[in-house]
Amino acid sequence: MNFLSNITSVFKEHAARPAFCIQNKQYSYAELQSLISAIQVKIKENCAGEQNIGIVLHDDIETYASVIAIFLLGKTYIPIHPGYPVERAGQIFEQAGIKYLLARTNNDTYTGVVTLATGEASGIAEAELACPSFSPDKTNAYILFTSGSTGVPKGVPITYYNLDSFVNAFDALGYKTDHNDRFLQMFELTFDLSVMSYLIPLSKGACVYTIPDSGMKFTNIYSVLTTHKITFALMVPSVLANLRPYFEEIDLPDMRYSLFCGEALYKDVVSEWMRCVPEAVVENVYGPTEATIFCLTYRITDVNSISEYNGIVTIGQPMRGMEAIVVDDASAQLPDGEKGELCLYGNQLTPGYLSAEKTREAFFELNGKRYYHTGDIAFINEDGNFIYCGRVDHQVKIQGFRIELSEIEFHLRAITGSSNVVALAVNNPNGLMQISVVFEGAETDAEPVLEVLKTKVPPYMIPAAVHFVATFPLNTSGKTDRKALQKMIA
Ligand code: AMP
Repeated sequence: MNFLSNITSVFKEHAARPAFCIQNKQYSYAELQSLISAIQVKIKENCAGEQNIGIVLHDDIETYASVIAIFLLGKTYIPIHPGYPVERAGQIFEQAGIKYLLARTNNDTYTGVVTLATGEASGIAEAELACPSFSPDKTNAYILFTSGSTGVPKGVPITYYNLDSFVNAFDALGYKTDHNDRFLQMFELTFDLSVMSYLIPLSKGACVYTIPDSGMKFTNIYSVLTTHKITFALMVPSVLANLRPYFEEIDLPDMRYSLFCGEALYKDVVSEWMRCVPEAVVENVYGPTEATIFCLTYRITDVNSISEYNGIVTIGQPMRGMEAIVVDDASAQLPDGEKGELCLYGNQLTPGYLSAEKTREAFFELNGKRYYHTGDIAFINEDGNFIYCGRVDHQVKIQGFRIELSEIEFHLRAITGSSNVVALAVNNPNGLMQISVVFEGAETDAEPVLEVLKTKVPPYMIPAAVHFVATFPLNTSGKTDRKALQKMIA
């Protein structure tokens, strides 16, 4: 395991250097090491036999120390967001068989699991952190849960082999980073872009700068970028939409790498952004959770000749160890230039979902290789770059969060007993995507329904607007015409 041995040697070489800066407080590698050791002692004393361990997420050093403590024991972490409904956490505990949680403080929010308080773990510093021995392709490093169309979150396990393959492919991209770099970490740990944002710096002895939980997220990002002279930032394109009104004033000469991932990157806004980061290499990177963080990349070498389609910047080409193809409805490979579904194969691909049925639906064999259906529509352009054109289904991204609109519809149907409800992603007046729901029938008070919905889904899945339409428009096949509905509420 390259990345684990890199981390263990970093702790020896860079003990005095800062590993994290959280809420303006710095933690050295030595401090982090002692906390990791103490958490490992807690785990060994309380749940040595457990493979899957939950971590209740907070913007604190204990959360990150718990992740690394788990990695260096060859165990699997499952992030649990304290702001998401308890019922949803319960579904995750059940699916992943979680009996123990690591959290800074003990609390009684979750039943049926034991919480080990990491805030009480004091420096029982071991001589040095050791690399575990286990079989990397059969052992999960983490399991993330994404929105599931049937109302139950979908578990995506990522093995140590997948993660190590990502780190090796990342290194092969040739970014020149070292212990002097300052990395932005703007993601919740339930989103796998966070893994790049903490793991890559920790494997180089660099420092990770997190974003405070409180206040306006985008203001906080801007403030961390400028105050700490961030040199490497992976962000979702929605950040640009929020910062755009201030581009004239933004000047980040220290930024050397500015990467975007998670949703479509628009050429016009990124071209303007490039003036704010004059020294930075700017890249659009792409990948689903199922293929470990990201696996295609495109570097913008010249702002005047950005490879794009309909204003969306290309997602480029696969990273080392990964392959991408475009297929038709029958999963047969299409020639370059033809639009179809983007499918992925390679070292970063999950062995499958926790649910065998979901795995059967999403994976297929072609020429002796096992491919994953991404659900993204794409084609290969004349430069050999993959062009992202949208989705085949009703999955959307809101500020980078992956949402199945049908999951929202599922819960609303269950809550109201009504079968005619549609969730849509619409652009708000500031050009940002938000969720609207439309009920068929006479207008009623939607507030009580939304209150129940809040107990079922995370806050980012709660609709920003509710509409009522007397009778839904139908398309020629007699199905609800979602596009017409979208126009009606616009
Ligand atoms: P997630 O599993 O949350 O990382 O979401 C994966 C999905 O996000 C992909 O299947 C795409 O629909 C979308 N996505 C990720 N990166 C990009 C990108 N650079 N451009 C367009 N869409 C993207």
